[in-house]
Amino acid sequence: LDSVSKVYNGGYLAVDQLSLEVADGEFMVLLGPSGCGKTTVLRMIAGLEEVTTGDVWFGRTKGTGLTPKDRCVAMVFQNGALYPNRTARENIIFPLRMAGEDPVEAGAKAAGLAQILGIDAALDRLPWTLSGGQRQRVAIGRAIIRQPRVFLMDEPLSNLDATMRTELRQEIGSMTRDMNVTTVYVTHDQVEALTLADRIAIMRDGRIEDVGTPAQVYDDPATAFTAGFLGTPR
Ligand code: ATP
Repeated sequence: LDSVSKVYNGGYLAVDQLSLEVADGEFMVLLGPSGCGKTTVLRMIAGLEEVTTGDVWFGRTKGTGLTPKDRCVAMVFQNGALYPNRTARENIIFPLRMAGEDPVEAGAKAAGLAQILGIDAALDRLPWTLSGGQRQRVAIGRAIIRQPRVFLMDEPLSNLDATMRTELRQEIGSMTRDMNVTTVYVTHDQVEALTLADRIAIMRDGRIEDVGTPAQVYDDPATAFTAGFLGTPR
């Protein structure tokens, strides 16, 4: 992200000249309080929201002018909306079928992912028969099955109970590492950020206040805001 700003209609500056470089295969967490602009940043990376100024880059390719599809990103939302009349398996392989991939190969890929995500036994069930955590696992499987260049997650655990949240958090961590997929993960939960991230960017009022490894930002916070937000003892 090269000095990216977003002004919404009405003149509200939601993201203010934000620059951030995410390395290939890195797990970057955007952490910050409600309203600081995290979702807006994800949506600009995905191309769902235009930048007002600045640019999003994918390697040497400029994001401006690229459609969301051309960006090869996949996004998972708080409530991963599934196709209600399709089984978990059909939901997961849907992007591959749309791309014309062979059904047998697509099925094999879905089975592999389902095993990693712990939903093999639920593959033939319809979404309404699944728990919230299982539905979110299906949504994650569907997003990642085409091996996106960048995987974007917007508070994927926020609607789950505490046990489910811990379980799925661990699975997200191991899955993204195994697949070596570049990930940008939005949360306002400090524990999620500290346990999942390779690096954390702490946001406040549309800007990045601090960026570093979990140990760096926790042990040596750049500002009093960062320390307060992470709960670093002073
Ligand atoms: P949360 O954690 O609550 O989801 P966030 O950090 O993801 O918050 P954003 O959703 O990016 O924050 O919103 C940043 C600011 O921009 C907020 O003040 C929000 O009200 C405002 N905003 C977001 N979308 C729009 C829009 N479409 N039009 C006008 N203002 C918007």
